Amino acid sequence: MYPSCVFCNLVRTPARIALRIAESDRALAFLDINPIRYGHSLVIPKAHVTDLSDVSPEDLEGVMTLARKVAALLRRRLGTTGENLLVASGPGSEQSVLHLHVHVIPRLPDDDLRWNDWWQTKVRHPDDAELEALAQCIRG
Ligand SMILES: [Zn+2]
Repeated sequence: MYPSCVFCNLVRTPARIALRIAESDRALAFLDINPIRYGHSLVIPKAHVTDLSDVSPEDLEGVMTLARKVAALLRRRLGTTGENLLVASGPGSEQSVLHLHVHVIPRLPDDDLRWNDWWQTKVRHPDDAELEALAQCIRG
């Protein structure tokens, strides 16, 4: 626990307990106070970890298992039909709170996020040789 970490404070204090929606022994889920969709939730490990580089396999499993449960709850309670999971991890990712968190963003087919429209503006089309060289570089 880091005293100055806003998410560690959520884990240990009941001040915002009304925002909690699910919990396990390793993870906590609560509503995002700045949602981009109705029901937008966050799932965090109860232990303080900064990002994917320092999370234990057990905490990561706990977070993803709870994220799956939250997705099911959102579908059942809000009638959503899908979700996007988003993790910003590390200094280059625009991670805003330096305590690992998974955004669970509930979706409907005709909602206004238009994720694929945005995605298409970023897509590159490398040829096979470039992709194979990149894969070899990453494999080492
Ligand atoms: Zn923390």
